[in-house]
Amino acid sequence: MATFFVTGIDTDIGKSIVTGLLARFLRSARVNYISAKLIQTGSKDIAEDIITHRKLEGIELLPEDRAKKTCPYTFKFPASPHLAAEMEGCAIDPAHIAKCVNKLAESYDCVLLEGAGGLMVPLTRDLLTADFIAEQNYSLIIVSSARLGSINHTLLTLEAALNRNIPIAGVVYNEYPRGNSAIAEDSKLIISDWLKSHKIDAPLIHLPHVKDLNNPPTVDFSGIFTQDIKQKVKIKDKKALELMLKFDREHIWHPYTSMLEPLPVYPVESASGVRLKLADGRKLIDGMSSWWAAIHGYNHPVLNEAVKKQLEKMSHVMFGGITHQPAVDLCRKLIEITPEPLQKVFLSDSGSISVEVAIKMALQYQQAKGLKNKSRLLTIRSGYHGDTLGAMALCDPVTGMHSLFTDTLAKHYFVEAPLCGFEDEWNPEDIAGMRSTLEKHADRIAAVILEPVVQGAGGMRFYSPQYLVELRKLCDEHSVLLIFDEIATGFGRSGKLFACEHAGVTPDIMCVGKALTGGCMTLAATLATIDIAHTISSSEPGVFMHGPTFMGNPLACAVAKASLDLLEQYDWKTKIAAIEQQLKSELAPAREHPKVKDVRVLGAIGVIEMKEAVDMAKIQKSFVEAGVWIRPFGRLIYIMPPYIISSEDLSILTKAMLQITR
Ligand code: PMP
Repeated sequence: MATFFVTGIDTDIGKSIVTGLLARFLRSARVNYISAKLIQTGSKDIAEDIITHRKLEGIELLPEDRAKKTCPYTFKFPASPHLAAEMEGCAIDPAHIAKCVNKLAESYDCVLLEGAGGLMVPLTRDLLTADFIAEQNYSLIIVSSARLGSINHTLLTLEAALNRNIPIAGVVYNEYPRGNSAIAEDSKLIISDWLKSHKIDAPLIHLPHVKDLNNPPTVDFSGIFTQDIKQKVKIKDKKALELMLKFDREHIWHPYTSMLEPLPVYPVESASGVRLKLADGRKLIDGMSSWWAAIHGYNHPVLNEAVKKQLEKMSHVMFGGITHQPAVDLCRKLIEITPEPLQKVFLSDSGSISVEVAIKMALQYQQAKGLKNKSRLLTIRSGYHGDTLGAMALCDPVTGMHSLFTDTLAKHYFVEAPLCGFEDEWNPEDIAGMRSTLEKHADRIAAVILEPVVQGAGGMRFYSPQYLVELRKLCDEHSVLLIFDEIATGFGRSGKLFACEHAGVTPDIMCVGKALTGGCMTLAATLATIDIAHTISSSEPGVFMHGPTFMGNPLACAVAKASLDLLEQYDWKTKIAAIEQQLKSELAPAREHPKVKDVRVLGAIGVIEMKEAVDMAKIQKSFVEAGVWIRPFGRLIYIMPPYIISSEDLSILTKAMLQITR
């Protein structure tokens, strides 16, 4: 992580002793460190200076010392490295030194690297130590002393470092040889004044004369490390981050983005509770639950534990011809909590795939009944069911992607979406289009598919539950199956465990995903009635024709079961009702704004619909600056926060939404 280069203002100034004491300090502070020596001259075997370090640390030589990994070069002749090497007929390769140090830095959080001689000593005929340090971005610890001439040598060393932008971590003033105390005090004053006047926030630490290496003094070097480790990590992290973002921009596709002009992405380092921590340390309150999924917040200990426990047994095993406890436990739970007639579960990888599965189930069912003509589906406009070809053909034909894939997409029937809002009085006219289409084309229609009550990605619309009551009747009249896509709405989001409960209506097939695993992993399920499962299975080919590689993934099943248990353990209904009330009262003022078309809230979903589409990149940046993670699309600025959000954090989200609309 951080490498500190310990240099002296002269030879024989106490560099090894200071390095050993710095190491001793890091040892007592429980830092994962190692000390090393750049080049040892004057000893051919194990570097003498390393032996001094270990003595002061109070430890034996390390395996790395014996393998000469802590000192890339040793030369017998005591001279400047370049000359000592030449005397033995060889040359120092600075790249080899850098490689050795980097290798140590991979295993240790902190490397203390003792130099050879002073900062301006040549490593080779072409390279000064100072230039090597600058290139490697090591931080500098300068050992000064109480001898005559020290002020001059110390300030020259500091200037040489400053001119090369070498970060100065600290100066250690070694009281050796013991000189005149007035000179010592004056030298220290001049050095610290110089540091101050050059705005270098590095400590000057006094080291009393070390008489006995077996009984060294305890010195507090924390000033050097607390400051410099932070600074150093920042510099390194910044570089790594820039490289990461560059690679991302050049090679990785994000959802719905261009490879030529990608929208900016924000690097998230970790997430906990309702906070996403960005790589630069900023924390954002999450308003998105990672697209409806992270209902319990992030890094939840219960969910983590479920993954860990399962990981120790097996992360995956094929589901063909094999079963396992996590899948059985999860499916039993799903059957228990979904509407009673749904008794048969098909597990798959993602929401879109669960929709594909639902479509295929409906088609196979009608074929099994001898109704081969029923090969189309019927749905309402403004819907969204996924990005795979089958699901895409059922998304809203205008805001979806139909125009791009017209010739490839299956042709289905569309009717207007209901106009009655969730709380509006029911208008029977709303279902007229659906009724007439079913009357005319039921012989061609295998199933109706829609998102119950809440249309998500197609417009964040909330419609009257009565629509579903009427639709159920129509489907039964016309022998058409009813598929509910509860992928976004499932598991409490709309205030009911499943949105269809607002209407008290049961579908024949239901898709769930997203929050199923509490947002930890990708998993979805398609549930069907006994009639559907048995009809499919009792007619040619006698099986349901689908079977993904990662079907029933044990890790995902285990965490999904844990997430469902967790949901059951807290009073999510009361929590979501409180979120709903708070969203209603805090978002209401947005209605007054001339640019706002509508404000609506249902369960833990709050939406501000603007009259015009928003500038996504700009608005996203403003949200991040306000400390919140809200990702608008089109004309919609909306949130669906984790259920565990506090009312204070929720207020910060709603305030940010109001401010942006202004
Ligand atoms: N159906 C609905 C209602 C959805 O909201 C989504 C995801 N936005 C999907 C299906 C597709 O799910 P996935 O992205 O997991 O494939």
